[in-house]
Amino acid sequence: MSSYEDRDKCHFYYKIGACRHGDRCSKKHIRPTSSATVLVPNMYWKPSSDDSQTLQADFDAFFEDVYMEAARFGELQTMVVCENKNDHLNGNVYLKFSHPKEAHAAKDSFNTRWYNERPLYCEFSHVTDFREAVCRKHDVQSCERGDECNFMHVQRPSQQLLHELEQAQFCQKKQPKS
Ligand SMILES: [Zn+2]
Ligand SMILES: [Zn+2]
Repeated sequence: MSSYEDRDKCHFYYKIGACRHGDRCSKKHIRPTSSATVLVPNMYWKPSSDDSQTLQADFDAFFEDVYMEAARFGELQTMVVCENKNDHLNGNVYLKFSHPKEAHAAKDSFNTRWYNERPLYCEFSHVTDFREAVCRKHDVQSCERGDECNFMHVQRPSQQLLHELEQAQFCQKKQPKS
């Protein structure tokens, strides 16, 4: 790909998977026809609560649900959920598999499903390197761009849960298929 073409591409769409201008962006958003990453836009809705324990428990339950469902289709390498407040990132779920074939299967299945009484919609995403997409400031302190930041503000599951989910996936893989 030549660098001339790159000038027309929307960096946000390609790096973060979503851009605040959406379809009206003046730069190009070309949807991939295949990818190892599936994006489910606006999937997680935070409950209205000020209690951090309630919020974490709700998020952990959500994370586990989606992780387990996605892992049925292949090796789930990364699951990222955004907690930005801007519409194009709010509650976005990114599921990166080890192979596009697995992502295909997951996407096809998710697109026929409902979650929390809403039909799911998902698409392939260009994002495969999350280091480029994640706002590091949000992880270490607060980001000066706040909730409207255009980089991913990642909501983290509890360490223990993530560890358990990764272990479960690892064990499942080692079992012979019946
Ligand atoms: Zn754009
Ligand atoms: Zn930020």
